[in-house]
Amino acid sequence: MTRSGLESKPSPIAGLGLFATQSFNLGQKILPYLGKVIHSPPPSKPSQPTFILEIKPGLWIDGLIEENLARFANHSCAPNAELIFNEEENQAWLIARQTIPAGEEITFDYGFSLAESLFHTCHCGQTNCIGKIVASPLRPALRRHLRFSRPRD
Ligand SMILES: [Zn+2]
Repeated sequence: MTRSGLESKPSPIAGLGLFATQSFNLGQKILPYLGKVIHSPPPSKPSQPTFILEIKPGLWIDGLIEENLARFANHSCAPNAELIFNEEENQAWLIARQTIPAGEEITFDYGFSLAESLFHTCHCGQTNCIGKIVASPLRPALRRHLRFSRPRD
């Protein structure tokens, strides 16, 4: 599946990833995150797909639809894009948060809660990777939790 400037292909992070086939500039719109709008939080279950994202308080998008190429974008603890909800367009967009050269994988912060993070291991490979998919503001709290709950040897 392709779209101008983008392609999905196997990723070192997980499954299929979203890759740039052209460069994107800081602040540039990469592509919209399409899907079904949901007004209540999804249940946190291991079987829960990672395509249901809170795009603003009280509003989730279930991106598991064929047209949503953005669903291939993996989470990273040091992402090069971010998901931003555009109120005027009533549309969520992946926006470049730095220059993204052609060939690079496009990643963003899934923004998961602490409860959700427990079911989702992160394989982003960044030096600051916390090992779980969790919203960046929650990382210090999760890091403390993981440190204190680790069994002693
Ligand atoms: Zn990570």
